[in-house]
Amino acid sequence: MIPFEYHRATSVQDAVTAVADRTDAVFLAGGTNLVDHMKLGIAEPGLVVDVGHLPLTDVERLPDGTLLIGADVRNSDLAAHPLVRSHYPVLARALLSAASGQLRNLATTAGNLLQRTRCVYFQDLTTPCNKRTPGAGCSAIGGYTRYHAILGASEQCIAAHPSDMAVAMAVLDADVVYVDADGEHRMPLTDFHRLPGDRPDVDTNLPRGALITAVEIPPAPDGARSTYRKVRDRASYAFAVTSVAAELVVDDGTVSGARIALGGVAHKPWRATRAEQALIGQPATEASFRSAADAELAQAEPQEGNEFKVELTKRTIVATLTTLAEGRQR
Ligand SMILES: Cc1cc2nc3c(=O)[nH]c(=O)nc-3n(C[C@H](O)[C@H](O)[C@H](O)COP(=O)(O)OP(=O)(O)OC[C@H]3O[C@@H](n4cnc5c(N)ncnc54)[C@H](O)[C@@H]3O)c2cc1C
Ligand code: SF4
Repeated sequence: MIPFEYHRATSVQDAVTAVADRTDAVFLAGGTNLVDHMKLGIAEPGLVVDVGHLPLTDVERLPDGTLLIGADVRNSDLAAHPLVRSHYPVLARALLSAASGQLRNLATTAGNLLQRTRCVYFQDLTTPCNKRTPGAGCSAIGGYTRYHAILGASEQCIAAHPSDMAVAMAVLDADVVYVDADGEHRMPLTDFHRLPGDRPDVDTNLPRGALITAVEIPPAPDGARSTYRKVRDRASYAFAVTSVAAELVVDDGTVSGARIALGGVAHKPWRATRAEQALIGQPATEASFRSAADAELAQAEPQEGNEFKVELTKRTIVATLTTLAEGRQR
């Protein structure tokens, strides 16, 4: 055990102040990712600031219809919340597809967004990894790539982001609310996670020392249906090989609104803007959905060993949109 200091934050300001001058400080929420990393030796903080007991546990609708989700709302509570179940089924389904009941009871909204990649080499200290040790090399390139990126990867890192919840939040145009020494800020969730580029050690654009306090989701469009489809190697307790979060609005058989995001295929939740644009004004048919999927995946650059994910992702997009168009899910 490597010794570390522990501080239980008493307020948002106390948490932000506690880490302000400490580059070796980290926040702790449910601990389901951070504590694993401390045991493995991936994270070696000198100071752990526990923010999991702050009063950031509300889920409420604001006067303008925005849904505000506190940073410490547990994944189980969020999935079961009546406002989420009735207005954002894509989010409820994404949450319920993740991990296990026990883990979801601990995992928080903020911690889920900031969970790190499940790349096996990242978690194995005996193998080179640019994300752990910049400049060391990437063991995944030419290695085991089943859970790795086919979109937006770099020569430095081909890891995929593991969160299901974040993919649903990306499709819903969520904002991340955070507090740092300069006050409160908002960042679109689609800008929150980064592509690896030449800095794969940096997962997000969240400033150092900033505390996430909430996620805000705008009201769903009238007539929208949404759902989440996850392809994985086991029926439960497995990360996505690929996944699709989608919201569709269909008027008289024509697509008038489409939002699509992909999981398990990039270093961030991948907003499928090419597919979205290809769908607007088209008949809500399998042929249109296939064309949209082709348009998005035309930019895929799979690795040796994960070429199958290109066609798998296309088929998952088609299946998800078909389910929505046929009204089989709200
Ligand atoms: C066996 C297993 C299977 C899993 N399967 C899935 C799956 O299928 N799909 C999926 O999406 N996830 C899965 N997970 C991951 C799980 O969802 C995450 O571990 C969990 O969501 C992390 O939340 P937490 O509150 O425990 O975070 P913690 O472990 O406490 O923290 C994670 C990170 O967030 C930071 N942090 C926490 N709160 C804040 C805050 N308010 N502001 C700023 N930084 C903060 C911490 O410093 C740390 O860097 C699995 C995990 C395990 C162990
Ligand atoms: S893919 Fe990224 S996380 Fe995995 S070994 Fe390569 S650099 Fe490390």
